[in-house]
Amino acid sequence: MKGETLHDLYVEQLRDLYDAENQLTKALPKMAQGAGSEELREAFEEHLEQTRGHAQRLEQIFEKLGEKPKGEKCKGMEELIREGSELLDEDMAESVKDAAIIAAAQRVEHYEIAGYGTVRSFANLLGEANAAQLLEQTLEEEKETDQKLTQIASEINVQAEGGGEADTEDVGEASRPRSSTRKKRAA
Ligand code: FE
Repeated sequence: MKGETLHDLYVEQLRDLYDAENQLTKALPKMAQGAGSEELREAFEEHLEQTRGHAQRLEQIFEKLGEKPKGEKCKGMEELIREGSELLDEDMAESVKDAAIIAAAQRVEHYEIAGYGTVRSFANLLGEANAAQLLEQTLEEEKETDQKLTQIASEINVQAEGGGEADTEDVGEASRPRSSTRKKRAA
């Protein structure tokens, strides 16, 4: 770390989060595309929009601080995304894969929740009330996304536990090849 003050640490952590959000903006469309469940895909698409907003809030904060948003590579997020993308290429039953994608996505959310909780506290301590409020809004959206994923998982995990058999039950007796249930869309 270059500086020595809490303010320097605050700026460094904000840069780390900014890089994390930008990495996520690129990763979320791939996760949405890899999701078999419509609900899960929509949740990722919705969170992609929120994620763009999170990056914009950080830009607003940097502007007020008179600092540049770039300069830190968030290696934690890079690794979480790498783990998540690896499983997208794996061959498994649709519901099991969805359960795995959710597991990866919730790790990402918890990582962000930890980061935003910290910078929100720093902003409060440093008297940056406006920034604290913006960071709090993002923190709430990350928590809501995490809760939504928990709710989606509560259905998908049950299907996954049935060996993925429930994947085809909802369309009646005609069983369909798994690949046709994937809703591929151009990114
Ligand atoms: Fe975010």
